[in-house]
Amino acid sequence: MSLVAQVKKLKEERNAVILAHNYQVPEVQDVADFVGDSLGLSMQATRVEADVIVFCGVDFMAESAKVLNPSKTVLLPEIDAQCPMAAMLGVEGLIELKRKHPGAEVVGYVNTSAATKAEMDVCCTSSNAVKVVSSLRSERVIFVPDENLGKWVQRTVQDKEMILWPGFCPTHNSVTPAQVLKEKRLHPKAKVVAHPECRPEVLDLADAVKSTEGMIKFVKETPSKEYIIVTEQELLHRLKKEAPDKKFHSIPGMICPNMKRINLRSVLSSLEGMRHEVTLPEEVMRRARLPLERMMAIGRGD
Ligand code: SF4
Repeated sequence: MSLVAQVKKLKEERNAVILAHNYQVPEVQDVADFVGDSLGLSMQATRVEADVIVFCGVDFMAESAKVLNPSKTVLLPEIDAQCPMAAMLGVEGLIELKRKHPGAEVVGYVNTSAATKAEMDVCCTSSNAVKVVSSLRSERVIFVPDENLGKWVQRTVQDKEMILWPGFCPTHNSVTPAQVLKEKRLHPKAKVVAHPECRPEVLDLADAVKSTEGMIKFVKETPSKEYIIVTEQELLHRLKKEAPDKKFHSIPGMICPNMKRINLRSVLSSLEGMRHEVTLPEEVMRRARLPLERMMAIGRGD
């Protein structure tokens, strides 16, 4: 029996669903019940009726699924599929920042641990960060941990003072303007669509700045036939499927090694051994649920 067939069979037996992020390898995306961005996956996690969620993404995403649907067994197939940006801000760092800036509301990118979320007022993803910050009453906002995303939001939301944290995504932050300019020279007719986790000088070269789901919507709705996609390269798998009449180029080497830890074999052994189950203290889940639910009530921004 093929690996795909074995995964599907065991998924049935365990009454499981597979949720996969847009940056997962194609073989995992193709076997998943739902593929999406962080916001879409969080929303999907709340609707799961099956007993088990196999979460193909990184640690903080699987934690959010557990927080949002705590009666389910949530499995992260590879224990070391961890997001380095999420590790750049711990609970103590956020508490200290809150102490320094009393009265500021705290907006946290979902790329944080559940324990850190427990200290936030509201979460956001790259698809709704502008909408979330704009919705706040406070004029001072602590925005953590992605500094590039915070700077991008600040360009649009100018009536608030944003206090940022020096966190970043190594995959997006490493892209340079020279790399984008090189792709533009090679493909002069292509539109540049960049993710807001990139540096400001890279975003300055983009025709559009979008979250991953925003990119998919953008290429479907705009007449251009060719695009340079400045985000993790695996998004091209979905783009090619959903806009087969268009041509896409990625930035060479734009790969998140943490997302690549999971493959079909690890999904299968996760289901076989019911490993690695996400467990969180009740109190952390209770407090982290509030900012996540507040974010979902605000909804998608683009
Ligand atoms: S792409 Fe960046 S932010 Fe996303 S999981 Fe990888 S390291 Fe973290």
